[in-house]
Amino acid sequence: MSNADIPVINHYIGGQLRAGQSGREADVFNPAEGAVSARVALASEAEVDAAVAAARAAWPAWAATAPLKRARILFNFKALLEQHHDELARLITSEHGKVFSDAKGEVTRGIEVVEFACGAPHLLNGQHSDNIGGGIDNWSLRQPIGVCAGITPFNFPVMVPMWMFPIALACGNTFVLKPSERDPSASLLMADLLRQAGLPDGVFNVVQGDKVAVDALLAHPDVEAVSFVGSTPIAQYIYSEGTRRGKRVQALGGAKNHLVVMPDADLDQAVDALMGAAYGSAGERCMAISVAVAVGHVADALVERLVPRVKALCVAPGTDARAEMGPLVTGAHKAKVEGYIAKGVEEGAKLLVDGRGLRVAGHEQGFFVGGTLFDDVRTDMTIYREEIFGPVLCVVRVPDFAAAVELINAHEFGNGVSCYTSDGGVARTFARQIQIGMVGINVPIPVPMAWHSFGGWKKSLFGDHHAYGEEGVRFYTRYKSVMQRWPDSIAKGAEFTMPVAK
Ligand code: NAD
Repeated sequence: MSNADIPVINHYIGGQLRAGQSGREADVFNPAEGAVSARVALASEAEVDAAVAAARAAWPAWAATAPLKRARILFNFKALLEQHHDELARLITSEHGKVFSDAKGEVTRGIEVVEFACGAPHLLNGQHSDNIGGGIDNWSLRQPIGVCAGITPFNFPVMVPMWMFPIALACGNTFVLKPSERDPSASLLMADLLRQAGLPDGVFNVVQGDKVAVDALLAHPDVEAVSFVGSTPIAQYIYSEGTRRGKRVQALGGAKNHLVVMPDADLDQAVDALMGAAYGSAGERCMAISVAVAVGHVADALVERLVPRVKALCVAPGTDARAEMGPLVTGAHKAKVEGYIAKGVEEGAKLLVDGRGLRVAGHEQGFFVGGTLFDDVRTDMTIYREEIFGPVLCVVRVPDFAAAVELINAHEFGNGVSCYTSDGGVARTFARQIQIGMVGINVPIPVPMAWHSFGGWKKSLFGDHHAYGEEGVRFYTRYKSVMQRWPDSIAKGAEFTMPVAK
């Protein structure tokens, strides 16, 4: 492809595609081929300003639209998402690299949040207390907050934006999405489907971009709330910059998720769980399991069973129906993951399966790293402390259950965790004592359903609210309390004492 033939992925502002004006663009890759497939426009401050202005202008009418009418547009959107399910999944695979069936699952999990948001009329119900005293009634309502921004990571280009905007829109807000510049195409298809569903122009906008666009959103006085999902250093930055300016911010960060294998666990089930959770999506999931905590005598048997399975992983382009794992998202990310593997060796971990140097026939330039397995990993090692975000599983050996809990609770991340056991007492203690936001008992990736809420503890989430579910409704609304009485129940004369129920 010559430079002139390379398509450019643009912005979507006020109901229209807008060509980038900043003169800045970035490469978008097809990771399986290792080649540039498109360029993405990188927004300037002025382009962000135009998107926020469109959202601000559309807000009063959208906020005043009855929740049931807003929900009907979301119902249409859900039907369109289902019609375009494969098309969305293909876009994800072509820019992210994940296996097509996995991409379809991502779209399904996004659709589930739309289904939840379709319940807006019910979700926005307030509470009413009749006659709290003196002829007064007291009730509450939840009102939209205005223009909301969403800044999202590369690893779920459809699902993570859909953790945010369906609920924000259902609650009567308008939205500016800044997707990852590494896989930006799906954002424009979602914008088009929202338009086809009947969403008024300006209610949903997309600005493509990098730090310049993010900083412009954070600084913009008309942006009331910012939802962020990405790595922890950026999450911390977004949280401090946004809250410093008085914005409501929820910023979900990185992870290091452990799976505990107790001696009484069904070992076949535990190994299956580790394979899918560590290597699915090439480990590029914030809920991926990257540490297996082997308790007591189970360790040798666990490692023995894992080694042949990791060696046998089918690594191929995401479009290949046999693939269990696709490439990493970019060459830079591949180099970073390989750097971590080298660091693990240097720091003394036992490398049982090395995924570096993997050659996928016919796709030699692709960003592939094979499944990698380390044993005897210690807590002071870089590969244990830091998030690798690649197909690398570390086995840590501990003597007993108490040591497993202590180890996990001491880690700075607190996104997801899992425990494989057949002992109900152990399971209950684990669920209660573990300092992690999302817990699985014999479930490796416990991503909450759309009507629960998603979020980690510690350095995996900054802010007060988890994403989607009822927590999402709270984040995207302001609570208001109203007290009302009518003149015939008002006693004569001013009252100077603290009002109390009479
Ligand atoms: P990232 O932090 O590099 O990027 C996320 C977003 O921030 C992107 O839109 C990017 O353009 C923007 N950004 C990047 N650098 C910036 C900067 N210096 N200033 C302002 N904005 C900046 O994350 P990523 O590599 O796209 O995604 C992977 C990370 O996301 C992993 O750490 C993963 O754990 C995390 N993640 C977390 C969750 C969760 O729910 N906790 C979910 C998905 C991904």
